[in-house]
Amino acid sequence: MKHVIALDVGGTGMKAALVAPDGRLLHQARRATGRHRGPEAVVDEILRFAADLHAEGEARLGRGASAFGVTVPGIVDADRGVAVYAANLGWRDVPLRALIGERLHGIPVAVGHDVRAGGLAEGRAGAGRGAARFLFVALGTGIAGAIGIAGRVEEGAHGNAGEIGHVVVRPGGAPCPCGQLGCLERYASASAVSEAWARACGDPDADAADCAAAVARGDERACEVWQEAVDALADGLVTGLTLLDPQRLIIGGGLAEAGETLFAPLREAVDARITFQRRPEIVPADLGDTAGCLGAGLLAWDLLDAEAASPAAAPSPDAPTPEVPAP
Ligand SMILES: [Zn+2]
Repeated sequence: MKHVIALDVGGTGMKAALVAPDGRLLHQARRATGRHRGPEAVVDEILRFAADLHAEGEARLGRGASAFGVTVPGIVDADRGVAVYAANLGWRDVPLRALIGERLHGIPVAVGHDVRAGGLAEGRAGAGRGAARFLFVALGTGIAGAIGIAGRVEEGAHGNAGEIGHVVVRPGGAPCPCGQLGCLERYASASAVSEAWARACGDPDADAADCAAAVARGDERACEVWQEAVDALADGLVTGLTLLDPQRLIIGGGLAEAGETLFAPLREAVDARITFQRRPEIVPADLGDTAGCLGAGLLAWDLLDAEAASPAAAPSPDAPTPEVPAP
């Protein structure tokens, strides 16, 4: 059966699937990245996993995969197929397309950003269905976003469109690894809320989920920490929706698991800020932590479609050599 391989590489774990043309997951697998052994070990682990998945397809489905989609965190150059920078993997300029293509005998490889690919999946199969324009924002270790327009995700001229986590919401505020001060993700990511709540309650192991539970109990200190995050998030989101005028605002990532504890005050905080702007529907993401993997599968299928549409621009390894007329 014709299928593609989807692989979502996170900081600690990798999720993979063999995906049918209709999006069904024919086989799923998870593995650790092995990042404690260093950046090169992660690459080795990816290549080993890729080869095993390819063999799995041959054994189960009677043929190897037609294409490979891989998503990674950080900064991605999708055109060149290079993971430019990923702090949590210790990566700089890892040529994933070339490495995977070489290991899997020239298979076409699409490389994408994990959250943007997740947004693509939410748009086609999740909370963005039916919305021609949406903004997907994932509140995890950091904050990243995806701008959905008419069934695709805007990449930007350099692959960085949607980086709403690095919109400055507190000028001169907390330093961000990106080099700026006061970025949204320093205030409203799951990690930022975890840190703020651990400081406030004195338990170094307390995290954002504990904070949300304390808010639900009416704990005053927790409510203060939470409201600060909600206010920063609303400031960042209003900048986003002023620029993009989306129909739907989809919030995912660890912090969104707090449900209405987050969504009720967030809608209120956005309403309090907007004047002429129309407030989009603000809804939770649908696909949870499989969004990145589903998105990687979509990137692989889209790559095959693009190659079929213009075979000369991107020859597939087993395409016949085009005949060149004699001069
Ligand atoms: Zn930043």
